[in-house]
Amino acid sequence: MDIDITADEQAFRQEVREFALANLPQSVRDKVLFGAKLDKAEYVDWQQRLYRKGWIAPSWPVEYGGAGWNLSRRRVFLHELALCCAPETISFGLTMVGPVIYTFGSDEQKARYLPSILNSETWWCQGFSEPNAGSDLSSLRTRAQDRGDHYVINGQKTWTTFGMYADKMFCLARTSDEGKQQNGISFLLLDMNAPGVERRPIQTIDEGASICEVFLNDVVVPKSDLVGTEGRGWDYAKFLLGHERAMIARVGRSRMQLERAKRIAASQHDGGRPLIEHPLFQYRICEIETRVRALEISELRALAGYQPEKGFDGATSSMLKVEGSEICQALTELLVDLTGHYSKVYQGRYEQSPVGGTDAHGVMGDHLFNRVVTIYGGSSEIQKNVIAKSRLQ
Ligand SMILES: Cc1cc2nc3c(=O)[nH]c(=O)nc-3n(C[C@H](O)[C@H](O)[C@H](O)COP(=O)(O)OP(=O)(O)OC[C@H]3O[C@@H](n4cnc5c(N)ncnc54)[C@H](O)[C@@H]3O)c2cc1C
Repeated sequence: MDIDITADEQAFRQEVREFALANLPQSVRDKVLFGAKLDKAEYVDWQQRLYRKGWIAPSWPVEYGGAGWNLSRRRVFLHELALCCAPETISFGLTMVGPVIYTFGSDEQKARYLPSILNSETWWCQGFSEPNAGSDLSSLRTRAQDRGDHYVINGQKTWTTFGMYADKMFCLARTSDEGKQQNGISFLLLDMNAPGVERRPIQTIDEGASICEVFLNDVVVPKSDLVGTEGRGWDYAKFLLGHERAMIARVGRSRMQLERAKRIAASQHDGGRPLIEHPLFQYRICEIETRVRALEISELRALAGYQPEKGFDGATSSMLKVEGSEICQALTELLVDLTGHYSKVYQGRYEQSPVGGTDAHGVMGDHLFNRVVTIYGGSSEIQKNVIAKSRLQ
C-alpha cells in the first residue's frame, strides 16, 4: 500500500498546520500534550472553528454536511492535527451516533439531529453498558415499554462518558423477550434532561470524573426517536461499535506521544548521557515506532475496505482496537520511565509536579487513566474472541 503523500497533500498538510496554530490557544495545546482533561467550552470552541471551516466531519458524506474527503486526505488531516496537539473531536456524536442516524435513521431524525451534531450544539453520550451487562452487552435489562406513540424506559446505565454534560443519549433498551437475546433490543435517542433521568458522577483513578451512572425512571421517549426498526438495535450497535473501535486505534495521538517521548529522552540525562543514547530506551522507542507505523498501515487498509452501508468489518476494527490501545499504554509507560522520579510525585491529574519541570507534567495522570483503553469500547479479551471467531474458525 502506498503511504507516501503527494505534493497536493503536502500543501494541505501545511494549511491544516497553519489553521491549527492560528485557532488553538497555547493553553489548550498544552492540555492536550500533557494529557489534562479539557473543559466542555474548550472542546466546543475548537469544534465550532472546525465546523465553520467545513472540516468538522471528514468522513461524513457531503450530502449530510461532511467533507467527503478521500482516505489519504483524511489521514493527513487527522495526523497533522494530532501533531499540532489539537484536541480529538468528541466522538459520541460525530463518529458514533451521526453515522448511525444518516445510515439507518428517518429523514426527520436526519434533519433534526445531524446539524446540531455538526455544529456541536448538542452533546451526545453512549448508554450501552449496565452494571451486569458490559462484555455480555446483549444481557442488558433496561426496558422500553410500548405505550402507543411512545416508550417508557426503566433501567440503569453505567460508565457513561461525558454523561454529566450530555444533552442526548443514544441508548440500547429491551423491547422484547422473545427469541434470541440480541433480537429484542432497540436503539433509542433519549433526552438527558427529560423527567426521570438522574446522573451520578463516578470518580476515576486519575481523580477525574468524566464518567457517570445514569438512572432511568419512567423516562418517556417518543416513537419518533426509535432509530430504524424496533428489535434491530443490536445490528445498529454493531455498526456503531465498529466505528468506535476503529477510532480507538488513535494513530495520530500515538505519534504525538512518541514525539514527546523522543524530546524527553533527548533532554533527560543518566550518568551524563541523554537517555536517547541508552540502548534500553533506544530499543523501546524503536519498537513502539515500528508498531505505530504498522498500525498506521493497518488503519489505512481498514479504511480502504470500508463500506458505508455495512460499516467496518468487526474483526478488523477489533484488531485496530487491541493494537492501538496496547501501543497507547506502552507509550504512557515509556513516558513514566523516561521521567523517573519526577512523574511519581503525583498531586492529581491537573497539577504540575512540583519537581522536574514540564517534562513530567501530566505523565502519571495520563498513564493511570489510560488503563481504560484496553477496557472501554470492549475489553481486549473480548476483541480477541471476536478476531478468533471471525478469522480462526
Ligand atoms: C472509563 C470508562 C468509560 C466508559 N465509557 C462508556 C460509555 O461512554 N458508554 C458505555 O456504554 N460504556 C462505557 N464503558 C463501559 C465499557 O464498555 C465496559 O467497561 C467494558 O465493555 C467491559 O465491561 P465490564 O466493565 O462490565 O466488565 P466485565 O464484562 O464484567 O469484564 C470483566 C473482565 O472479564 C473479562 N471477560 C468478560 N467476558 C469474557 C469472555 N467471554 N472471555 C474472556 N474474558 C472475558 C473482561 O475482559 C474483563 O477483563 C466505559 C468504561 C470505562 C472504564
